[in-house]
Amino acid sequence: VAKESGRNKIRVFSKKMLERVLKMSRLEHELQAARKNNQFFLVYQPIFETGTEKLSGMEALCRWQHPKHGLLYPKEFIPIAEESGDIIDLGLWVLREACSTMAAWHKNFPELSELIISVNISAVQFRMASLVDQVSTILEETQLQPDKLNLEITESTIMENAESALFMLKRLKTLGIRLSIDDFGTGYSSLSYLRQFPVTSLKVDKSFTADMLEEENSLEIIKAMLALANAMKLEVIVEGVEQSHQLKELERIQCKYVQGFHLARPLSLEKAEDLLAKTHTCLEAE
Ligand code: C2E
Ligand code: MG
Ligand code: MG
Ligand code: MG
Repeated sequence: VAKESGRNKIRVFSKKMLERVLKMSRLEHELQAARKNNQFFLVYQPIFETGTEKLSGMEALCRWQHPKHGLLYPKEFIPIAEESGDIIDLGLWVLREACSTMAAWHKNFPELSELIISVNISAVQFRMASLVDQVSTILEETQLQPDKLNLEITESTIMENAESALFMLKRLKTLGIRLSIDDFGTGYSSLSYLRQFPVTSLKVDKSFTADMLEEENSLEIIKAMLALANAMKLEVIVEGVEQSHQLKELERIQCKYVQGFHLARPLSLEKAEDLLAKTHTCLEAE
């Protein structure tokens, strides 16, 4: 009996595995056509200034409306696109779409011309020397002010090869854009490099936020990251704020920027524009 159930277990496991692999290989085949068929779209998650609750920017996040599987999240298709190389094309589309959307917002809501658009850059894109020219071209095409674009690169991407990352970051910086280290605290930055990276801000990984009220260590690490950033004149954005108590504590320790479901979920283009219209009206009334 034991043997049989053991065998069954193996069968169930391998069937699941097989299904997963099949789905992945199908998705890989579908990626290119999906771009052409406009199945990808962006959602925009607001970033707020703590205390004032002022909207300071939006992070563009990619979604795939799949005809059969429904709405797919980045973790289901970004790794596949990275593996196949399709991320280059998809990443360019994301960048162009995000920049042109923000340029349009600046035009339509002149009071909000300080808003910054953040775009995630994959490790595969970051390793391509051509990225700098591509960003430069997109800025020109979309007429977005360079200092209103923030590129987010994860700490682990940067630390894969700190020496070449430093070179790339310096080249990107010459465009006058902003640079963020995303998922900060999870990628083993060397402090001697961190000091040299021409970045504008650190985004504290949401794993620290998740248990900051229960786990003294997490709160202490966030405080240490704030102190480090202060010393290096970097801004800090804490992501993954899900509760009002977390927000209160972050205000208390003087964290300047926050992002998370408690403040706002990633918004459709339409919902994002509703928020901008509301923010705009409030500013006009002041
Ligand atoms: P990320 O850049 O660290 O983005 C934050 C992720 O956390 C987003 O997930 C966001 O929806 C989610 N999030 C925001 N607030 C909260 C919160 O309060 N609690 C929790 N639990 N989660 C929150 P999403 O959209 O699924 O994206 C996941 C990751 O996929 C991103 O992490 C980013 O690394 C990557 N990604 C997303 N869009 C793109 C893209 O266009 N290009 C590339 N290369 N990567 C992307
Ligand atoms: Mg990000
Ligand atoms: Mg992050
Ligand atoms: Mg992440």
